Amino acid sequence: MKKLGFILFAIFLLSGCSSIHSHNWAPANYQQPATCSQCGQSEGNALTADFVRYDIKVLPLTPEKTYEYHTVCSDSEDAVTGLVSVADYRRFDSDETHQGKNGYQWQILTLKLQIGDAASNLHGFRYNYVVNDYYNIEGFTRSYRYDEEKQYCTFTVSWYGKEYDGCHVRVGCNNGEWRQGSDYYYKDITITFEALLPEGYDGLIAGLRNSAVNAADRYYLNQYYQQNDFVLFRMGEKND
Ligand SMILES: [Zn+2]
Repeated sequence: MKKLGFILFAIFLLSGCSSIHSHNWAPANYQQPATCSQCGQSEGNALTADFVRYDIKVLPLTPEKTYEYHTVCSDSEDAVTGLVSVADYRRFDSDETHQGKNGYQWQILTLKLQIGDAASNLHGFRYNYVVNDYYNIEGFTRSYRYDEEKQYCTFTVSWYGKEYDGCHVRVGCNNGEWRQGSDYYYKDITITFEALLPEGYDGLIAGLRNSAVNAADRYYLNQYYQQNDFVLFRMGEKND
């Protein structure tokens, strides 16, 4: 009898840890697969990021590399081509002018846009900036709103399964003067995206879109995206 008891006990041990607890699954999120909160075992895959799902192109944050930007004249749909480059990208907790927030970090991206071709010299040009989210276009767009008092846009993102509703971004555009170039007059424009984001976040999208793009009755980026009309950067991405 004593021996049988020992054998049963041994079988119980051999059957492994899975029988000791029933897994407590936290659902998959954009960064992790479904994971047991007790033993850390994971199953399946992380959710697919919207930018992967819809095949939306993002450019590396490599400084000084230039990319073509296609837009249109001020008063017509005549094509204008400019060049965009990353002038600066920084990530930090706080500084004199950027107050820190627990669990959050600042990310600041500065883009330089240079425009100066025949069409823009004749008729001027338009440009539009874009802010979006790599992982969840719909979630971001639905939460994104302008705060009149603070003069920035607030939004919510999800990071490792946690909702961060304290995010915000302020976009500043500094239009230069027309200068004489070798063939045409040109203008340098500096566009700065100052964002407060979850610590380590790598999903904020910032860039430019062709001003001819009609997004009036289409709410989500994936509904009006065409690669040729956009120059988009993924802030916080490390592998560039
Ligand atoms: Zn478990």
